[in-house]
Amino acid sequence: MEKKLEVITANCPQDHKCPSVDICPVGALHQEGFSAPTVDHETCIRCGKCSNFCPMKALVLR
Ligand code: SF4
Repeated sequence: MEKKLEVITANCPQDHKCPSVDICPVGALHQEGFSAPTVDHETCIRCGKCSNFCPMKALVLR
């Protein structure tokens, strides 16, 4: 089965602007305020850039 990006909300401190939103090459990540980002699975190309970038391991491709 194809991998899918999961947002592990429990790993996200949710107290800052998510830097991974700007890392995504296709604009698939969105953030409301300082909440954990959400992913648009229709847009996500499963490149893994955000999951490699997030130091909290809150974005996981699996
Ligand atoms: S896996 Fe790639 S395309 Fe998908 S949300 Fe992360 S950075 Fe964007």
